[in-house]
Amino acid sequence: MGYCIIFRTMEFTPSLSQLPNPSERRIALRVTAPAERALRQGHPWVFDQSITEQSHIGAPGDLAVVFDNKRRFLAIGLYDPTSAIRMRVLQHRQPAAIDTGWFQNKLAAAAELRAPLEAQDTNGCRLVHGENDGLPGLVMDRYADTLVLKLYTPAWVPHLKNVCGALAQVSPAAHVILRLSRSLQKETDSLRGLHDGMPLSLQTPPSLILFKENGLTFESDPVHGQKTGFFLDQRDNRARVEKLSKDKAVLNVFAYTGGFSVYAARGGAKEVVSVDVSAPALEAAVRNMAHNGLTVPHETIAADAFEVFARMESQGRLFDVVIIDPPMFAQSEKQVLSALSAYRKLTRLGLGVLRKGGTLVQASCSSRVHAGDFFEAVHRSAQEAGRRLTEIERTGHALDHPVTYPEGEYLKCLFAMT
Ligand code: SAH
Repeated sequence: MGYCIIFRTMEFTPSLSQLPNPSERRIALRVTAPAERALRQGHPWVFDQSITEQSHIGAPGDLAVVFDNKRRFLAIGLYDPTSAIRMRVLQHRQPAAIDTGWFQNKLAAAAELRAPLEAQDTNGCRLVHGENDGLPGLVMDRYADTLVLKLYTPAWVPHLKNVCGALAQVSPAAHVILRLSRSLQKETDSLRGLHDGMPLSLQTPPSLILFKENGLTFESDPVHGQKTGFFLDQRDNRARVEKLSKDKAVLNVFAYTGGFSVYAARGGAKEVVSVDVSAPALEAAVRNMAHNGLTVPHETIAADAFEVFARMESQGRLFDVVIIDPPMFAQSEKQVLSALSAYRKLTRLGLGVLRKGGTLVQASCSSRVHAGDFFEAVHRSAQEAGRRLTEIERTGHALDHPVTYPEGEYLKCLFAMT
């Protein structure tokens, strides 16, 4: 029989106590010269192909230590034999005991970085942004009193007890929900009974959570929703859209649960249209308007965005603000060119329904597509369509989505007038 673990204010599920402890035996690694250089520069990954020597075969979550050719310590991290990213660095330069106290320090630093958000009537934000907060392969989002902990590698399983213990000290919450990346869900041997969507806290969390973002109320369904239930990374861009929306007809394409739409409505839009292929997401968009008492005409269209654009253009329908925030287009390096061509196509389609003098808001969340290439693609496409874009602003990452290594940069967005 398992027993439930109580860490001061938080009670956790018995399944947590049944997880294995991290192995006492550390793996010693030597790596190639370029990999050594990358580690010295603070890069958080060691790829399988960079490993030249290894003391013994390890299991997911074993601690691995990289030494240089003079046997000096370079980095300690989580070993993951299931991934080409064979080790994810927890700490560079100095050895450390990776225990509850160590996790507490990391979580406290991450919480401090986000402290300004509380003053903005916001209790939905990313508390831990993986590698960029020194906890590689681990993401944690807060929605009011619920935390959603998402893992991307089985290497976290033996450390989960310590992470939860640290959480109880630093960022206590009523509920914790575990989410597992798609690839991790397949690693059943390593998961030790953990499964996607399970509560880690003892009490069953509500299936739908209401939280605040810049004073607006939104709902999140962390178990069935996309990402951890909401696209927290677009908060600042949504606030920018609010400021542009007074008396405007706003088209929000790839709307999901209507984040941009709700801000546009509060900003005084005279009409909002939300388009997404997911009907349940649009139902949530309608509820999100209602949570905020917003009664502006709001049309939702559950269909393919490319088709909706084409149909609207053929009907001669025009908007003052067009927002285009598509899903990630490039999963791999091979897909970068086709992603750029999709962005160009979306710019052309967006301009086809954008009134002269209107504002285009176009985002990309593909980390493999570099910001410069994305902005150039949008401009080139506008030029080809005979429309000149005057930039208002190029935006990147919000405070709770810090970037500390090149691959960590994914979000870019162009605000431009035409
Ligand atoms: N702008 C949103 C997040 C968008 S995420 C926000 O601020 O919350 C991308 C969205 O695109 C998802 O909701 C997904 O359902 C939708 N989507 C993916 N492919 C699509 C397509 N071909 N047509 C319309 N929507 C699509």
